[in-house]
Formats: sequence, C-alpha cells, structure tokens
Amino acid sequence: MVISTTAISQADESVNCTFASRYVKTSMPKFKMAEKSIPKDAAYQIISDELMLDGNPRLNLASFVTTWMEPECDELMMASVNKNYVDMDEYPVTTELQNRCVNMIAHLFNAPVGEDETAVGVGTVGSSEAIMLAGLAFKRKWQNKRKAEGKPVDKPNIVTGANVQVCWEKFARYFEVELKEVKLREGYYVMDPVKAVEMVDENTICVAAILGSTLTGEFEDVKTLNDLLTAKNKETGYDTPIHVDAASGGFIAPFLYPELEWDFRLPLVKSINVSGHKYGLVYAGVGWVVWRSKEDLPEELIFHINYLGADQPTFTLNFSKGSSQIIAQYYQFIRLGFEGYKNIMANCMENAQMLSKGLEKMGCFEILSKDVGVPLVAFALKDSSKHTVFEIAESLRRFGWIIPAYTMPPDAQEVAVLRVVIREDFSRSLAERLLSDFKKVMKEIEALPSRVSNKVAHVTATVDEIKGVDGAVHKKKSVKETQEGVARYWRRLVDDKKKTSGVC
Ligand SMILES: *Cc1c(COP(=O)(O)O)cnc(C)c1O
Repeated sequence: MVISTTAISQADESVNCTFASRYVKTSMPKFKMAEKSIPKDAAYQIISDELMLDGNPRLNLASFVTTWMEPECDELMMASVNKNYVDMDEYPVTTELQNRCVNMIAHLFNAPVGEDETAVGVGTVGSSEAIMLAGLAFKRKWQNKRKAEGKPVDKPNIVTGANVQVCWEKFARYFEVELKEVKLREGYYVMDPVKAVEMVDENTICVAAILGSTLTGEFEDVKTLNDLLTAKNKETGYDTPIHVDAASGGFIAPFLYPELEWDFRLPLVKSINVSGHKYGLVYAGVGWVVWRSKEDLPEELIFHINYLGADQPTFTLNFSKGSSQIIAQYYQFIRLGFEGYKNIMANCMENAQMLSKGLEKMGCFEILSKDVGVPLVAFALKDSSKHTVFEIAESLRRFGWIIPAYTMPPDAQEVAVLRVVIREDFSRSLAERLLSDFKKVMKEIEALPSRVSNKVAHVTATVDEIKGVDGAVHKKKSVKETQEGVARYWRRLVDDKKKTSGVC
C-alpha cells in the first residue's frame, strides 16, 4: 500500500514505524519551513541519512580541530549542553572552571602571575574571537597613548607574515586596521623577523608572530623578534608590543620544547591566544586569550555586569554560548595533567616523523615542514610538470582520506603543497595505512597520461596566441616557467573553490 506523505497526520505517528520509506518519497522543503510537523523519528532519520554524505571527521587530515575525546568527557559535555555559559550567577561553578583554565594556561605560558594573583584572560569560541579581543586591546592602548600625545589615531596597522590565518585579515577589515604583511619567499615560509621589524612604524599597534604556521607548522622566531623590536623601540621611542598567535603551537611548545622562549618570558609579548579545540584536545568551540598583566587590557573594554549583586567582568564579542567546551577543557587539564599532554604530543610528533620519513623515502616528495613545530607534514612534489598535488589530493579521497592541497601565499605562490595534520586520534596504524595508500595513488597517477600537459598546453597556448598577434617568435618554455604556469592554473582553480570552502 502506498501512503502519500500528505496523508500522514499526527494521529498516524504511533503506527508510523516505517517512516523512512514514506518520507523519502517526497523531499523535504529546503528553504521554507514545511507547513506540517513530522514525527521525531522521521526527522532524526532524514537528517542522519543526509549527514552520511559528510566526510568522516576522523579521516579529515585537513584540520587541527579535535575529533575524538574520551566517552567520560562526551558524557560531561552532553550533561551540560543546556547550560548557558553567560548565566554566571546561576552557574557559578562553570564560571569557576573557566577561571581555573585561564590560570592554568597563563602559568603554562609563563605569565608573571603572583602566587595569590589571578591571571588575566578569557575563554572564547576559538582563536579567531581571541585574536579579535587581543587586537582590540592593542588598538585601544595605542589610541589612548597617541591621543595623550596629541597625535592622529586614524591609521593603525599590524605587522604579520603573509602566512597569517584568515582571522587576522578579518580582524583588520572588521576593525579597520591595516595589515602589513611580510612577504614569504621560496624555501622560507614564515615571517622574517628582520623584515617585520623594518616594517614597524609609529602606527603599528603590534607585531603578530605565529607559533605554528598554519601552512607548514613551523614556529616563527619570537625571541629574535623580541630582541630586534626591543632595540628598535629603544632607538625610536615607540613601545610596539608583540602578540603570539599560538592557536596550534600553544599546546605543543610547552610540552615538547620547554626551553624554547616564545611566551611571556619575552618582555614584549603582551598577549597570547591558543585554540582549546586544536591541541588543547577539546571538540570545536573553545579558544583562549591571556594577557601578560592587567595593564595590557584597557579597562574600558571590560563590561561589568551586575547580576544579583555580584560583579562579573566580561570581555567577549558574543553573549550567550554553551558551557560544554569549557567543562571539557577543564576535564582534559585535570585528567591528563602535564604528563598526559606531553605524552600525547610526543606521540603525535613521532607519528608525524614516521609519516614524513616514509613520504621522503618515496623519492617524489620534498618535505617542507620542520622537525621542530606543530606535528604535521607539509610536502610538495619535486617535479610537478606532469602531475600535481591537487590530483593526488583528489585521488586520496577515494580511499576516504581528506588531505588539503594549496598554494603558498605571496611571494611563494608558485609552491603547491599537501598537508597532513597529525592529531591524537591518528594512530600509528592509520599512519602506515595512509602511507601505503599514498604509494598506490602515486603508482596510479604516474601511469596516467599527464593531465597537466593539456592544461599547460592551454595556458601556454593562450600566452603564445597573444605573442602571435604581436608577431613575436615562439619561445620554448623552461621547466621552471612550465611549473609556474601549472601553479598559476591550479591557483586559479583553488581560489575559485575557496570561495565556497576553506582550510582551517
Ligand atoms: C586555527 C588557527 C587560527 C584560527 O583559530 P580558530 O580556533 O579556528 O578560530 C588562527 N591562527 C592560527 C595560526 C591557526 O592555526
């Protein structure tokens, strides 16, 4: 018997156990709310069916964001999904847990906090919100100083490397600050501290260094930056500070490289952000920003909410949000402790090195990531005149692996790389599996006719046609020119794609 969906009424719900076959007959409206309700199990089934077509988060090697937590923590998170974090007076314990997390992170980053002092910082939705807040604090401090000196405040800028994550561009555009980017070059994919300090002027509100470049995982040299900037400040009378974007490296460096000086041990570092949902080991939705001291966070940015008599200072961009992520962060801190984090990060690093060595041994790849840094492997094809990293990424999809391929920012845009991020849940056996799938894919690809040659022929042809009109003689392209042409072609393709998706 065929029942049309419109014939199903609320009363049918109890006999409606074979709902799926009924509801899949007509598609659900996508853009307008349906007139009628549907049974809860039907809604559940329809949505979970559609979600099957999403990638598997555990095989998503594109992202730094945590995809696995212990079941005990999942339980704690589910138990607190109905708690609005902002109701601090109603949920004072949750507020207390966030404050403990801020203090633990501040100590981890060597903030000069006295024994009975509390650290200055806040939990956010991620590093992006954390960076907006840190940027606002720098902008306001700079404005206050300039105004007191009777100088103009209309042209603030931030100096960064061209390898910054998109949230810095967002900050710059939303809050009207110019982003002065130090260009990269082939073979050097982080901000050069010498060039950065050269770019600093009286309007620079801060220099932003990255601990763990999103592109290659490499740590920028914050110590050298601090030394050079100290000298420049002395010479010019500026007091340009440093912010460290430790979104991914903030939970790596303290455990694996405790001697490395990148944090509040360096006097010019005034604030640091870190993503709780990356190597902080919590699911998406938590970040942190910590200031060196109270003086580095202008009082006028803090709102004092008076709930039922208690003063609750807040400095965030949003109001209501869930509590689960904060509680989960606290769980990880007490559950793992320093020892636990250290073991996990060491493990990730070992897996990254194993994968990196395996890929290098294949002979066709050049490894761009460094031994010291965030546990990821970034690598390029030694010869991309026949096949490209974009084809490799596409082919690996067939095995379920999600691995991003992208071109580097200026002036290294001719270099196209693949990047595999190693997270806690990426086990050794998965790493071995990935390596063997890489070998299969490379074998297949090498046996295929070059897809590049057609495309390059096309790229070249266009150039030649123009030349033809000018009457110029056809010149054979060098290998380097060909590779550049290929990179440009793919870059256009990727840029078009990027309009609808992104790499985080
Ligand atoms: C991921 C990342 C960000 C953005 O962080 P979210 O937590 O995703 O908002 C900013 N900077 C760097 C270096 C990153 O790796």
